[in-house]
Formats: sequence, structure tokens, C-alpha cells
Amino acid sequence: MCFEKIKEDTFHSLVHADLCICQKCQDQFVAIFENKIINDVKVCALYDYNEFIQSNLFKLKGCGDIELAPCFLNYHLPWLMARYRGHIIVPAPSYGDRDAKRGFNQVEEIFRSSKLPLIKAIIKTEDRKQSDLSQDERNKIKEIIAWKEQADISGKKVLLVDDVMTTGSTIRACIDLIKHHHPKSLDVLVISRVANSEQR
Ligand SMILES: [Zn+2]
Repeated sequence: MCFEKIKEDTFHSLVHADLCICQKCQDQFVAIFENKIINDVKVCALYDYNEFIQSNLFKLKGCGDIELAPCFLNYHLPWLMARYRGHIIVPAPSYGDRDAKRGFNQVEEIFRSSKLPLIKAIIKTEDRKQSDLSQDERNKIKEIIAWKEQADISGKKVLLVDDVMTTGSTIRACIDLIKHHHPKSLDVLVISRVANSEQR
């Protein structure tokens, strides 16, 4: 991540033998575990969308540096596995062509280490980047996401995941869609959230 040599004689590397990054970099992943309720669903954000998270997410999804994917959960994997045991993951949708170009989907890759089953139940039917949209258009996100017909989540504990939550409009639209398909329960976990985006 920082191109420094990883010291192998620290306590840190002893405890986390399979760690892919140095302690200095690891220490910058400061979790906030911020909870809020959206449409009656508990939404947990792991990190603030600060410069560090933003730049590393860009390296992952913009530059295709797939090696960075496991770094985002890393330390928090045991917590994640305890809290969401028995859940199936539904990733927030991204436009398929973008993933195809990159060769992978960053959200799927980040959550791969959780070993939870993943079902791509929601798809995006149009390539519109959230950040390019005005607030009004963001509310129209509902029109460009759709349920994959074969996807069956009825009676299952669903964990909706995404990498960045800005206004929450995508999450809100996905929650509505998922609720229509009778999950046993629904939780949301986002890697990062943009602070005070409502006021922007
Ligand atoms: Zn480093």
C-alpha cells in the first residue's frame, strides 16, 4: 500500500500473520461503526469516507488494484463474521459493463473474505454514476435498478453491502426492493459513509 518494507518482527505481524499491509497503513483504517436507521433498517458504516479510504477505494475500483480488496475488512473480519453469521450478502448494484471492463466488482471482492454466500439479486439497468447526479436525479435511482428474476431471498437473513454511502438514496432504493422479496431479516453494512451529505 505504501511501498515500505513490511517488518516481520512486530507483535502486529505475529498476530496477523496473513496480513497484507504494514502496521502504519493498517492503523489508518480507523473504524467508526456508525449506526443509523434507514427505512426501519439498521445501517452500519465501517469507516468515514476520508481521504485515505477514498484514495484506496479509487486504487481498487478505478485502477483495478484487486490486491487491496481484503485490506478493507482485515481487522474487522472476526466482528463481521460474528455479527452477520448465517446471512447472505446482497451487494448494491453496479453497472455490469463497468465490472466487466475492470475484471471484477470491488464490493464482491471486499466481502469475499467474509466467506458469506453472495447473491447478486439487484442489477443496474443503466450506467449512471451517482456522483454525477443531482439530488433530484439521485431520487430516481429506483428507476434504474431492478431485481434479478431468479434471485430468491425469501426467508433468508440478508445483508445488503456497498462501498460508499453518500446520500443513502441507493441504499434506500435497495432496501425497498429487498423488502418486496420477503427476507427473514435485513441489515445493511457499508464500508464507508460520506459525512453530512444531506446538507451538500
Ligand atoms: Zn504501508
